[in-house]
Amino acid sequence: MSDLVVGIDLGTSNSVISVVLEGEAIVIPDSEGRRIHPSIVHFREDGQTIVGNEAWRFRAEKPRRTVYSAKRLIGRPFESPEIKMLMGSFPFSIVPANDGTPRIQVDNQHHPPEGIGARVLHYLKSLAEQYLGQSVDKAVIAVPANFDEGQRRATQRAGEMAGLEVMRLINEPTAAALAYGYGGNKRERVAIYDFGGGTFDVTLLELRGNVFEVLSTAGNSYLGGDDFDNRLISLMTNVFERQHQVDLSGDELVRQRLRVLAEYLKCELSDEPQVTRRIVEYIPGTMTEIEVQFQLSRQEFNERCMDIVNQSLETCQDALQTASIQRAELDHLVLVGGTTRIPLVQARTREFFNREPVLGINPDEVVAIGASVFGGSLAKQQQAPQIGGPGMEAGLDAVDEDWMEGLEEGQEAPQDEGPLLIDVTPHALGIATVGGVMDIIIERNGQLPLDRTRYFSTSRDDQTRVVLPVYSGNSRRIEENRQIGMLELTDIPPGPREEVQIEVTFEIDTNGMLSVRATDMRTGLNQYARLSIMGESTDDHEFDATNLLMT
Ligand code: AMP
Repeated sequence: MSDLVVGIDLGTSNSVISVVLEGEAIVIPDSEGRRIHPSIVHFREDGQTIVGNEAWRFRAEKPRRTVYSAKRLIGRPFESPEIKMLMGSFPFSIVPANDGTPRIQVDNQHHPPEGIGARVLHYLKSLAEQYLGQSVDKAVIAVPANFDEGQRRATQRAGEMAGLEVMRLINEPTAAALAYGYGGNKRERVAIYDFGGGTFDVTLLELRGNVFEVLSTAGNSYLGGDDFDNRLISLMTNVFERQHQVDLSGDELVRQRLRVLAEYLKCELSDEPQVTRRIVEYIPGTMTEIEVQFQLSRQEFNERCMDIVNQSLETCQDALQTASIQRAELDHLVLVGGTTRIPLVQARTREFFNREPVLGINPDEVVAIGASVFGGSLAKQQQAPQIGGPGMEAGLDAVDEDWMEGLEEGQEAPQDEGPLLIDVTPHALGIATVGGVMDIIIERNGQLPLDRTRYFSTSRDDQTRVVLPVYSGNSRRIEENRQIGMLELTDIPPGPREEVQIEVTFEIDTNGMLSVRATDMRTGLNQYARLSIMGESTDDHEFDATNLLMT
């Protein structure tokens, strides 16, 4: 088994894989030299799949068989508002499975979103193996900072389904900060502004040598490059409406074709002051062609999309407030994600933060590079088992904890130990109480790893089971938060109500993963505590790597 640990940015739109070789992080290309791989899976009629760049053209040609943006669905329950909102915008069907998770339907097959993620990951793993000439079995996978428990677990499962041992889930902005600052012995505060295809995140970090401490993180999972594409689609359908009195906006296949074009024109507008295209479409339900000349200047695009960019800046304000720091206290601004190539985004962030973004960092590759830098340090620790014990995992934990405990504020960690990441919880976590109020157990922006203990009593005499809904979110009202699962305490020894006291400890590890344990205070015995996470599929479905077509 190889010691290499690759770093993977499993993006909504595109994915990138990187590895550290001889101390240097490199991005792994496909056979054509392309370094960025669309997170797209095309299902051929013969059952084989095509992934990445070769799958891209099928989005317009065979939209019902070509799955994209599965990351927007991963780890969410079918009934979640996000999935309800997204369902209408995909050309493929999303259907519920018996366990309440969503499935992507292609022909009569139902694929869990993590199965799509697994195919993308498996493709990246194969690219790396071809490139490196050796097997690749271990990975650090980057996830959005505001991914919740269900989304993190599903991503980890996708990695396992792809045949990868997921050594660590790293938050995308933290990975970006590593790529920016690791090895540079920096002492500064940076803002990582990450605008991708489907989500927006901002993270403020303090760098002290090789300590990367997150001060705050905030995000909007409804904001991304797709919003700009939707604006362009509306502009295009308006032109058809004006010139031909035909409303194309409700036709899903037309929208799908226009979506591909919209994204293309949006990217062109990042380089050109104006774009012009002849667009030919059919009147829905007929073979009658209609055509328009579509023209758009960057100026008009900026005006139409200003509110989208401003929404991202509101989230930045929230992150600053949470960290209790002023814009002027930040030293650098790092732009991450494809959407930051839009000149309007660059101009507005420059204005807001009152500084030039750091240049020379590729916004598409920076997250994967950071993940591989972390992977490289794990691989190094693996090769040096004397650090903290025989197993890599033990070594890492021991190192992390020693550093964390001995580290005063503002102090650096030893340079030769690899980076120390101090991340935070993106959302508060709590339990629903009477009146629809969330009883917060773990606060937002708490430093990881952390644990918090609460005491629960029974409400009826001789009650042996308690079930509590667990919520995540930053509001005190549960209806504004997201239910992530259920906590079930069973086998409680019978006793008078309120005399029975159960101590419940919630723990979040450095991967951002939640676990729970419970103790009966009278007997001191461990209680059976089960945390079932919504959006977690109970069947791992078929994913047969032999069906993958490598091109
Ligand atoms: P990411 O999730 O970071 O891969 O970002 C993907 C998003 O970036 C998609 O919405 C792309 O359309 C968008 N994007 C990529 N390149 C450009 C560009 N040159 N101009 C504008 N948007 C871009």
